[in-house]
Amino acid sequence: MSTIVSHSTQAMSSSEIEAPGGQGKPPREKRGVPSGLWMSCGQCGEMLFRKAVEQNFNVCPKCDSHMYLSAQARIASVLDEGTFEEWDRDLTSVDPLGFNDKKSYPERIKSEQVRTGLRDAVVTGTGMIRARRVAFGVTDSAFIMGSMGSVVGERLTRLIERATEQSLPLIIVSGSGGGARMHEGIFSLMQMAKVSAALARYDEAGGLFISVLTNPTMGGVAASFASLGDVTFAEPKALIGFAGPRTIKATIRIELPEGFQTSEFLLAHGYIDRIVRRHEMKSELARVIDYCGKR
Ligand SMILES: [Zn+2]
Repeated sequence: MSTIVSHSTQAMSSSEIEAPGGQGKPPREKRGVPSGLWMSCGQCGEMLFRKAVEQNFNVCPKCDSHMYLSAQARIASVLDEGTFEEWDRDLTSVDPLGFNDKKSYPERIKSEQVRTGLRDAVVTGTGMIRARRVAFGVTDSAFIMGSMGSVVGERLTRLIERATEQSLPLIIVSGSGGGARMHEGIFSLMQMAKVSAALARYDEAGGLFISVLTNPTMGGVAASFASLGDVTFAEPKALIGFAGPRTIKATIRIELPEGFQTSEFLLAHGYIDRIVRRHEMKSELARVIDYCGKR
């Protein structure tokens, strides 16, 4: 994959991962709006004290809506404090198609890096969950909708390969409304096969992969690694699916059941194993790792 992934020379420190402007919503939605002390819940409309929401893992204290959580805040909420060590941070995408929408793809990557503090839409590495070492990856929907291009695919593949070599339990938290990244065309689509093949080898080696689905998990991410967990958790009321409801309806021309792309519907139909609230995620991950004898 060396033709589509380049190594930048300057490694950034982990403190630079932190998304600017707090953790209440993806930075994109707050563009031009000064971040205040108060915010409103997108689900129930309640005015909430921002600090209280952040201390509650960005879960609405009134209606339990699980709001956007940045990759860095996710790491802090699941892994033991100070144990996360990032892998492959220096991978950056090149521009195989010479893609232009409103700006060139390299310019978009750069501006997304500045805006989110992320290098690309995934953060991978190792850390501890209640003193159990794991390989951990998380995609962030704030970076080009959390879409999977060559960097996301390559970092996840390397994460899975290291988990295989080191016999580590593997946890990937998915948050992607974008699926495969169109800016890289077929190179993005190839990542689905590459990551899935690495997961197959990990499985043959006896690994335990816990896939955690968050709002939203769609497209090529849902159609590859996110759906391949030995155990699949989802946060409450997360949007999970492949194509959007309007696209499906226009294609197959039948009325779709209410809420058919939510965690609750997918639990009832056997696609996911358990709905886990953010507050219990760390304990539940540790419990499954122990239950499967992978400590
Ligand atoms: Zn609410």
